[in-house]
Amino acid sequence: LLTASALRKSFGPTEALVSASFAIDAGEVVAVMGPSGSGKSTLLHCLAGIVRPDEGQVRYQGRDIAELSDSERTALRRDEFGFVFQFGQLVPELSCLENVALPLRLAGLRRRQAEATAREVMARVDVAELAPKRPGEVSGGQGQRVAIARALVTRPKVIFADEPTGALDSLNGERIMQLLVGAAKESDAAVVLVTHEARVAAYSDREVVVRDGRTREPVVAA
Ligand code: ATP
Ligand code: MG
Repeated sequence: LLTASALRKSFGPTEALVSASFAIDAGEVVAVMGPSGSGKSTLLHCLAGIVRPDEGQVRYQGRDIAELSDSERTALRRDEFGFVFQFGQLVPELSCLENVALPLRLAGLRRRQAEATAREVMARVDVAELAPKRPGEVSGGQGQRVAIARALVTRPKVIFADEPTGALDSLNGERIMQLLVGAAKESDAAVVLVTHEARVAAYSDREVVVRDGRTREPVVAA
């Protein structure tokens, strides 16, 4: 579904990625592990088309995403990808319901239809009652559930999760992982899961280790 080969990316003098390869199939959950600063988030951003690698290719459904126009790449991220980050990804001025509906609104749906779908997804991840609240009025674990609802609302093919449990205690972290992986499996979405916690990585089907900007072994594209 999504593959990358020989990615290289520098930020000024810092080589964030030196040689990174990756592959994930539909419905697969792959954990990206490695020490702080090893390049995990940069790899995720390259895979998601947020950061353009200096060298190497990322292919989604066989197409080189560098060859897409900016608007095609934006549409790809909006329509096929979902994102869950460690914290701060909800818009504080919007209600939780409006946050979850936002990707659908951006895709052009009318408010009523977007919010009806958002309510369904929120019920599925057990946060229906948070709909009218602002993100500042909910707990960390509840906020992550809302963020997961928002990531799922467009029925993405790939969910990118960067330390999704990083700000949570271990019990809430486990709950979030069960929810995320369960929802992904249900809809046959792939999950690229960045984490440095082995307990979180245990929810994956497979692990890829990044060290000093290199994935430990070249991953053969499936
Ligand atoms: P962590 O586990 O702490 O999140 P990471 O494995 O996700 O770390 P990256 O965020 O990918 O690591 O960073 C890899 C290297 O690239 C680091 O040295 C970091 O300082 C550098 N880097 C990442 N993003 C940028 C940026 N936008 N500008 C400058 N340097 C960056
Ligand atoms: Mg990171």
